[in-house]
This record gives sequence, structure tokens and C-alpha cells, in this order.
Amino acid sequence: MQLLQELGEEAKLIAGGQSLIPLMKMRLARPAALIDINHIAGLSGIERHDGELRLGALARHADIEASSVAAAIPIVHDCAAGIADIQVRNMGTIGGSIAEADPSGDWGAVLLTLETLVRSFGPQGERTVTLEEFIKDAYTTVLGHDELVREVIVKIPPKHSGGAFVAFKRSAAAD
Ligand SMILES: Cc1cc2nc3c(=O)[nH]c(=O)nc-3n(C[C@H](O)[C@H](O)[C@H](O)COP(=O)(O)OP(=O)(O)OC[C@H]3O[C@@H](n4cnc5c(N)ncnc54)[C@H](O)[C@@H]3O)c2cc1C
Repeated sequence: MQLLQELGEEAKLIAGGQSLIPLMKMRLARPAALIDINHIAGLSGIERHDGELRLGALARHADIEASSVAAAIPIVHDCAAGIADIQVRNMGTIGGSIAEADPSGDWGAVLLTLETLVRSFGPQGERTVTLEEFIKDAYTTVLGHDELVREVIVKIPPKHSGGAFVAFKRSAAAD
């Protein structure tokens, strides 16, 4: 938080780098400084408490795919397992996906079908908002430049609930 305040709006957080680095390669993002949050302790847990699944912002898609705890909500597992390829899943994080609010990203669409809260942290302290409030528009969230997503909290649906995750992935046209 202190670094973000010191370096100002030109600085960006980097988690898995799977959205930010491609944008930088295309010169669509040109941050003056990158702040690597991968070494912040306590941000990568996947836990179940009080009927909720709590996914730390640094939980990788592959961690969620492999987690028996996350399997409590099958479409959460299926969403993680369906993202890109193993290289992207090993690096990309749920916090980065939610913070990016890319409308073609899978997490936003899946988590909006469930009861999801986003807990963030900044100079004013911690705040928790629903995912509906968090995502304001494509690529736009309520996060201030000096705030960090800490955790994504998903209510475990009642017994006998069901869901399915089917994604139509874009691929290069065959000749
Ligand atoms: C080839 C390829 C294929 C892909 N296919 C899919 C797909 O099929 N489905 C899908 O959903 N996604 C896909 N993605 C995107 C991937 O899931 C990314 O991992 C994800 O969108 C961003 O997560 P990240 O941790 O890499 O974020 P980063 O790239 O590190 O960051 C993205 C943005 O979020 C900010 N940020 C990161 N973490 C936080 C935090 N904790 N708090 C606040 N801000 C934060 C950064 O400052 C940056 O602006 C693909 C990516 C690639 C490269």
C-alpha cells in the first residue's frame, strides 16, 4: 500500500502477469513501475468457513482446479480447469482476473451466478462489496489505484443446487 501511494497512479500491481504482460507487450499498458505482490504472505489460501469458500487473491487458477476444498462448488472447479492452458493456469490468479474485469474472462461470468463478495484492502482499511458492486463496467472496478484485492468469498449454494460451466473458446480459424 505504501509503495502504491509513494509511486502514484503510474505504478501497477502485478500478480500472475497473464493479463498485464500481454497488454504491456502490445503497448496498451505502460506502467512506470510494477509492484510484485507475489511475496505478500496470506493471500493465496483456499479455505472453507461458515458456509463460504474463501479464495485468496493470489490463488492460481491451477491451485483452485486442484483443490478439494474448492470442489465444494463444482462450477468453481470447472471454471478454473477450463481457463486457457496449464502455463496460464499455473501463473494467473483469481484476484488478478477479478481486478482486470475483462468481460471475456471466465471468473466474472461464473462468480456472478453465485453469491460472491470481494474483500479489498487500502489506505482507508478493509472493505467488502458484492461482485455486482465491484465490477462497474468492462475493465472497470470500484478499486482505487492504491487498493488491493485480498480475497474472493463465495457462498456455498444450498444442498441439491446444481450448475454447469460451458465456455465457447475462441481459437484461430482453420484454413
Ligand atoms: C494465452 C492466454 C489465454 C487466456 N485465456 C483465458 C481464459 O480462457 N479464461 C480466462 O478467464 N482468462 C484467460 N486468460 C487471462 C488469465 O486468466 C489471467 O491470469 C487473468 O486474467 C489475470 O490474472 P493475473 O494474476 O495474471 O493478473 P495480472 O496480469 O498480474 O494483473 C492483471 C490486472 O490486475 C491487477 N491486479 C492483479 N492482482 C491484483 C490484486 N490482488 N488486487 C488489485 N489489483 C490486482 C494488475 O495491476 C493488473 O492491472 C488468458 C491469458 C492468456 C495469456
